[in-house]
Amino acid sequence: MTAAPVLDEDRDLHQIAKIQFDRAAPYTEVVDGWRGMAQWLFQPERIVEVVLPVRADDGYVHIYRGYRVLHSSVRGPGKGGIRFHPDAGPAEVKALATWMTWKCALLDVPFGGAKGGVACNPQLLSKGEKERLTRRFTAALGEAIGPHTDIPAPDLYTDSQTMAWMYDTYSMMHPGEANLPIVTGKPVSLGGVTGRASATAQGGFYVTEHYLEMGGLPGISSLEGARVAIQGFGNAGRYAANLFHEAGALIVGLSDSQGGIYHETGLDPGLVGRHKDLTGSVIGIEDTVALPPMGVLEVDCDILIPAAIETQLTAENAPRVQAALVVELANGPTTPEADDILTSRSIRVLPDILANAGGVVVSYFEWAQNIENQQWDDAKVASELRRRMRRATERVVARRAALIDGIEMYRSRWHEMRPNYPELPLPNLRTAATAVAVQTCREAAAQRGVWP
Ligand code: NAD
Repeated sequence: MTAAPVLDEDRDLHQIAKIQFDRAAPYTEVVDGWRGMAQWLFQPERIVEVVLPVRADDGYVHIYRGYRVLHSSVRGPGKGGIRFHPDAGPAEVKALATWMTWKCALLDVPFGGAKGGVACNPQLLSKGEKERLTRRFTAALGEAIGPHTDIPAPDLYTDSQTMAWMYDTYSMMHPGEANLPIVTGKPVSLGGVTGRASATAQGGFYVTEHYLEMGGLPGISSLEGARVAIQGFGNAGRYAANLFHEAGALIVGLSDSQGGIYHETGLDPGLVGRHKDLTGSVIGIEDTVALPPMGVLEVDCDILIPAAIETQLTAENAPRVQAALVVELANGPTTPEADDILTSRSIRVLPDILANAGGVVVSYFEWAQNIENQQWDDAKVASELRRRMRRATERVVARRAALIDGIEMYRSRWHEMRPNYPELPLPNLRTAATAVAVQTCREAAAQRGVWP
């Protein structure tokens, strides 16, 4: 059986999320008497768009657009990052909020999904301009965010400093209240958790390590000596390079928005980090081979880690991927076409909603500590994160195996429901992970019922 052909690769991220949802839906159990639930579970609950006048350092007032989408509060308050990026827009933010819902369900974190973004070029903003933009955005969101309704966190080009400004602004607007849980990813001195900055990479590391131990990749049972290439050297990519290097992997390729570098016997991520801090990029290190902009995705390696931006693996370059395993630290780095090509080439993909969920897990720990006025030690954060990431990996692997075992039943149910549709695609790890997540949300929604 072949995967259903998807013909148009030029679509937005929300359409990509819908394709992933549609591929998983036949593999979820239908709850009696709940026709129409699929539509309910996919559509975002609330979309807020705000216009933000911000005074630049030269006195000029620039106008920015900001977005906050609450995809689902079926399982708890919304949770999701805020990104500053020129491409931030409604479709992107809706997709990212949807993936947050699925991530929280898969990791058994009692949150729904949300996401925010401001369309801007953060590389052209001074620190003062970023602060004014962050404060104006927080104020404009008003009651759309709150410690028990929708809780932001850092994402692309935002960090603990951004969260400190958001917390301070919200606190000024809500005096006399315990406001620390309004955002996560805060500085440690402001109720943050030591492991939050590295949590996304750490979570991806635990998932990869466990997947290899479970025999997911024939011939490679540990990271010792594994050849790894990483696209992106920011929060997610840089920590990942260090963690995989410390575990004995060879980091053969690294890149950032300015280009990439390759070294056959392995790069030293510490040295690359110092070079990036000095020069602003990973490129130009002595004795390394320069890679073209997307070249890092195609280098000879065992494990490829996209940790930069979305839709990087496409129908165009997926046939040239040499890795046996793709670990998605970025959100949405693989188009549905690329997914099909990688699956048909037996390249495994640990999907974003599993591999990069470490950030939201530790965000949940931070939120829970802030609510209870507690402070966990680092060892407890690390061991709880590891336990959850390993358990979720086991759930996904087991669900995929169960779906493949039951494929005849799913196929005949599919043909009954959709006689004119193409063949049901065989479930890969993404389909299995999405099916677990959607099923969990479906059950919660059915248990709550529809009000009124
Ligand atoms: P970041 O801003 O810290 O770093 C982004 C990195 O990507 C930078 O090194 C940048 O140079 C690089 N980059 C940008 N465009 C590129 C391109 N075209 N080619 C190669 N490199 C490029 O962001 P981050 O927090 O590390 O986020 C990276 C990805 O991980 C995003 O998709 C984000 O949504 C996802 N993610 C992050 C977190 C988190 O906790 N930070 C959690 C879950 C998912």
